[in-house]
Amino acid sequence: MDIQAIEAELKQKRNELLLRAERLHRDVHHRDEPIEKDFAEQAVELENLEVLLELDRETRLELRNVLEALTRIEDDEYGTCQTCGNPIADARLKALPYTQSCIRCASALENAR
Ligand SMILES: [Zn+2]
Repeated sequence: MDIQAIEAELKQKRNELLLRAERLHRDVHHRDEPIEKDFAEQAVELENLEVLLELDRETRLELRNVLEALTRIEDDEYGTCQTCGNPIADARLKALPYTQSCIRCASALENAR
């Protein structure tokens, strides 16, 4: 497994996510439009805001995963399942570079939901 390539990819991803988070934050908080709108417009506005907030939430969650993966690389724990301690399959890491659990623990978690 090429840790350095994965690290580079994760850092790239982190930068993208930081930019996206910043843009979303701006969209949510610095909208200097007049507030005098009719109810239909306000409803659309609110819907847009909810979409933005949802995107913002997802972006921050993904960012957290990426940062945690980078920390695990630093600590030499990358590729180890955080739940059972077994190694995570290379193919799984390739598909999901910032996953923190092996396929068995991940599906157990899915099923527990
Ligand atoms: Zn596991």
